[in-house]
Amino acid sequence: MVTAAISGTDEIRARAEQALTRCGVDLTAVKGDALTARTPLTGADLFGLRAQTPEDVDRAVEAAHTAFLTWRTTPAPVRGALVKRFGELLTEHKQDLADLVTIEAGKIRSEALGEVQEMIDICDFAVGLSRQLYGRTMPSERPGHRLMETWHPLGVVGVISAFNFPVAVWAWNAAVALVCGDTVVWKPSELTPLTALACAALLDLAIADAGAPKGLNQVVVGAADVGERLVDSPRVPLVSATGSTRMGRAVGPRVAARFGRTILELGGNNAAVVTPSADLDLTVNAAVFAAAGTAGQRCTTLRRLIVHEDIADTVVERLTAAFERLPIGDPFQDTTLVGPLVNEAAFGRMREAVERATAEGGTLCAGGERQFPDAAPGAYYVRPALVRMPAQTAVVREETFAPILYVLTYRDLDEAIRLNNEVPQGLSAGIFTADQSEAERFLAPDGADCGIANVNIGTSGAEIGGAFGGEKETGGGRESGSDAWRAYMRRATNTVNYSGRVALAQGVDFSQ
Ligand code: NAD
Repeated sequence: MVTAAISGTDEIRARAEQALTRCGVDLTAVKGDALTARTPLTGADLFGLRAQTPEDVDRAVEAAHTAFLTWRTTPAPVRGALVKRFGELLTEHKQDLADLVTIEAGKIRSEALGEVQEMIDICDFAVGLSRQLYGRTMPSERPGHRLMETWHPLGVVGVISAFNFPVAVWAWNAAVALVCGDTVVWKPSELTPLTALACAALLDLAIADAGAPKGLNQVVVGAADVGERLVDSPRVPLVSATGSTRMGRAVGPRVAARFGRTILELGGNNAAVVTPSADLDLTVNAAVFAAAGTAGQRCTTLRRLIVHEDIADTVVERLTAAFERLPIGDPFQDTTLVGPLVNEAAFGRMREAVERATAEGGTLCAGGERQFPDAAPGAYYVRPALVRMPAQTAVVREETFAPILYVLTYRDLDEAIRLNNEVPQGLSAGIFTADQSEAERFLAPDGADCGIANVNIGTSGAEIGGAFGGEKETGGGRESGSDAWRAYMRRATNTVNYSGRVALAQGVDFSQ
């Protein structure tokens, strides 16, 4: 099924300019010829933008550092008031930001609105957190001594973000970093600069309203060289980088070489196990969203379905029918569920992966083909592909950032868990089962080895309250809720002697 005609580029450009202006972006100041804002909806260029040079990055880091010197001694609940105001502005401009997310990343309306909602949610979380940056007090082994931990702001946090969550991932970092007393320099994806400019303008408004120091948040627009300058900056104690494992492999060692810290949120290759007791209506529904939502361009997208051999034919049949029914097309239309791939390169990688999968013994059951190339020649709409595989071959072990769901079969749960874990990535996993012991086995220490493991839920669509991130080549970072805030602060252990005497730990006697 194909939905209504794609919006025209002129209409999309006008919509983008209106949304930017309403968010407070001065269009004449940001337009230029260094970088082109483009929309995957038609594949057309929207307008040129100014970009930052590596030297501009140094200036942005310096400005953020200067703001940090004031911000770090501002009481945390006062810092929370800034984030509260920012959350109010995001709520006011939810539609504008969602429009920009759709225009630049191609997300359907409800997912674009959901992404902005995620920013609002993390602001709420961070406001509460601003009164809960707890340190512990431990019993001292020495009489008349107090032993405790205090948490202090860290400095300038460098945030590098990917195109597929153009605003939420920055907000996870920025909202938490700001209440922790840090300042932020953000290098958004070169594919999504407009959403970044809009968010930065709204945060600047919040900074003015809250009377917070200017320069708390800086945006540096540009390609990898701009990111590299941020990565190498000795003034940036923490780099939080979201993107491909390839990017993380470059960024991680560079930051480590200068003893900086990283939060790495990299590629995933997420699987769900379907056991014979699973509710198949629920399973198929959840699997289709997880595999085809955001056109398969989520780090948590379901890429492998590991189905018990007794029900594999039924599951494949039902998924095939569901994939063939998916409404693909203009993400601004309410009926659309699958928007475009981000660009031609993404489509090329998808086509190549499907070809490799069939060469490696797979059977293409549904999808894989480009949709209406005549109506939208520069855009890459594609029907999500369902491929049944005889084994977990080389192509299945890789992350192809496109909607391809590989179906594998298993005989016993140990085999299913082994298949889940034998890929290099470790982001998200799920099991569909009505058997509690199977569910518990999947979540046990020798079960799924991922940072996120779900029961009767697909692999995507995490809430902000939990810590988000994954193991192995996914990078090991954690962001968002729970105690992820600790990565944005430095810990000091303090011992206070109020006894009036020198007492040494471990019973050491040094009496003079
Ligand atoms: P990408 O790696 O191409 O780019 C991500 C960002 O890194 C961009 O801003 C880019 O300019 C920058 N960058 C690239 N090379 C760099 C370098 N050497 N130094 C500094 N910066 C550099 O990724 P993408 O195509 O935008 O996003 C898709 C990828 O991101 C997928 O692999 C997906 O799984 C992953 N992702 C992971 C998460 C997560 O939380 N684990 C979330 C979203 C996306």
